[in-house]
Amino acid sequence: MKKTLQRIDYTASTKIQVLEPPSYYTFMLDAGYTSAVKKKEEVVIGDIIATCRNTHLYSSCNGIVESVSEKAIKITPHEESTKEQISPLSFKTMERSAQIEYLEANGIDSLWRNTKNVQVCIINALPTDAVAVQYMPFLFAEEKETLEHGIETLRSLYPSARIRCAVPKNANISMQSVEVVEYAKTYPYTLTPFVKQELEGQDALGVLTLSLIDLWRIGSIARSGKPLTETILVVNNAVVRCPVGYPLTSLLERLSISVDSVAGAVSNGVMNGEPLCTLEGGVLPHFYSLHTFKKEEIPPVTDDPCVSCGFCTSVCPVGIRVHLLNQYAERTMFEACQEEHLEACIECGMCDYVCITKRPIMQYIRNAKQHTKKMLPMG
Ligand code: SF4
Ligand code: SF4
Repeated sequence: MKKTLQRIDYTASTKIQVLEPPSYYTFMLDAGYTSAVKKKEEVVIGDIIATCRNTHLYSSCNGIVESVSEKAIKITPHEESTKEQISPLSFKTMERSAQIEYLEANGIDSLWRNTKNVQVCIINALPTDAVAVQYMPFLFAEEKETLEHGIETLRSLYPSARIRCAVPKNANISMQSVEVVEYAKTYPYTLTPFVKQELEGQDALGVLTLSLIDLWRIGSIARSGKPLTETILVVNNAVVRCPVGYPLTSLLERLSISVDSVAGAVSNGVMNGEPLCTLEGGVLPHFYSLHTFKKEEIPPVTDDPCVSCGFCTSVCPVGIRVHLLNQYAERTMFEACQEEHLEACIECGMCDYVCITKRPIMQYIRNAKQHTKKMLPMG
């Protein structure tokens, strides 16, 4: 999946397409959600249909629950609903703590509760991927009003904070009451930890960071007073406004991508996103991209061992001895992983990209992080 990909550069003139409604919706539960609905139950747009701790999945259609399994909830839409529609909240007049709670319920978990601690908010509008997900100028071009609602919400949540937005050099962006900062570096230095360090210095305190797509999500909620039931999604070289739960196969068909030709897919970026093991599911609220690959674009799977060439270490932007960390992570030697600065890994995927024997290094590192989290003492 490495050398054959075309780099896709979206422009401000890339139009956001609106999709025809699908014939059914499918809401995946495998990210830890538990269903809150039963088979044959009627739901309306905005009903909570599943929960995961304090986060909810909301129905994006009026319809009837067709099936509920451990993996998914399937809903068939019907417009003649007998159930009362959900009224919008007056989000802007809600208590600040209730606003943050509601945004968290919608999956926006990067906000801080203690407003006094926030001196600067950095919005990272830089490319989130070296290959597939480039900078998203179409959000500034077509969704500016929603972004401004997001800014207004940040201003009310953190009244004494400066708001800075990092954009690529020569992006020609202006935003009301926000300091727009042009940034010249390329991936992986466009990832938020580096942007924060570059803009505010290594030891800066009180710096809250969030992505451009999260700003759009906050703005959508503040503007509508309704939960998030759609996302804006880059799919290969198209951009679509997509209801949550839209079946992936229908999405590809609508964009004239042959499902039969797809041998692999990844959400939220090729370098550091999540591979999808099936196309049977639907779009999730946190998706902002979906990229598919044909068989010939995926390198053959091998089980060649690490040859200690050190390429992974030479590209690591945080200076981890990746050739060692990878060996420990592969052998489940988690304490040794911690000694090799496991937690410093920012999951950029650069090591994976250059590995000559195609070891799935970042996957091993993610696995090691999961295990070391469990090793932490309770409380
Ligand atoms: S993903 Fe690899 S290259 Fe990137 S920070 Fe982690 S170890 Fe370093
Ligand atoms: S790039 Fe791959 S083969 Fe080379 S040291 Fe790193 S893990 Fe081993």
